[in-house]
Amino acid sequence: MRPFVFINSAMSADGKISTISRKQVRISGRDDLKRVDALRAHVDGVMVGIGTILSDDPKLTVKSDALRRARSDQGRTENPLRVVVDSGARTPLTASVLGANTLIAVSQKAPTLKLRQLMKKAEVLVVGEQEVDLTALLSKLKYRGIDSLMVEGGATLNFALLRLGLVDEINAYVGNIVIGGSKAPTLVDGDGLTSNFVKLDLKEFCRIDEGLLVKWRVKDRP
Ligand code: NAP
Repeated sequence: MRPFVFINSAMSADGKISTISRKQVRISGRDDLKRVDALRAHVDGVMVGIGTILSDDPKLTVKSDALRRARSDQGRTENPLRVVVDSGARTPLTASVLGANTLIAVSQKAPTLKLRQLMKKAEVLVVGEQEVDLTALLSKLKYRGIDSLMVEGGATLNFALLRLGLVDEINAYVGNIVIGGSKAPTLVDGDGLTSNFVKLDLKEFCRIDEGLLVKWRVKDRP
């Protein structure tokens, strides 16, 4: 058992989610940022990899006061559970994501001292030996009531989840810029596949701002 998992990502017309410097870059327009905020306000949890924390230092909270209030009115936490996938507990103690309602998922290889320090600032869950066991993590999240999970990158985590068949949908916003660079991260990186590719069903597409939102459903893999 696991939550409903979808990847939401913004990429350039050439499929890059950042530049060769791996720093956050504005790809979406105003309306798309509002769409993402509404998704955050809707889901039970959001997830990112440690690479994204180190590159972008995101807070991963709901930006709209009205949407946060609406969650509270429904008896939910103001923000979804923020989950960081971080085998070695490399999350900086100053990271913006740390605080209430944050879970750092680590592996057994994480150094004890750093774990103790992180535990003062967030919940820490050891799941996996050398790296975070994503299947086990998702089942633990489901067990604690996370029914819907939005994965907000980055490229390596996206690949790992897709390879394991742990993603139900992909929402990709394609912005009207070209970034280029063979080392710039794309929507899905990792080791890549040479066969048995992940197949998708086109669910819907629409224009937002000067770009295109495409929603794909991930087909069950044979
Ligand atoms: P990432 O996918 O955010 O994080 C990858 C890291 O997660 C791995 O290096 C690994 O580090 C950790 N991890 C732990 N368990 C894992 C597992 N089972 N499988 C795979 N990874 C696991 O990092 P990234 O690929 O470098 O992506 C970051 C880039 O994406 C940045 O440039 C950022 O700006 C960009 N980004 C763009 C968007 C967008 O929508 N445009 C959104 C998010 C990020 P450990 O081994 O240390 O645990």
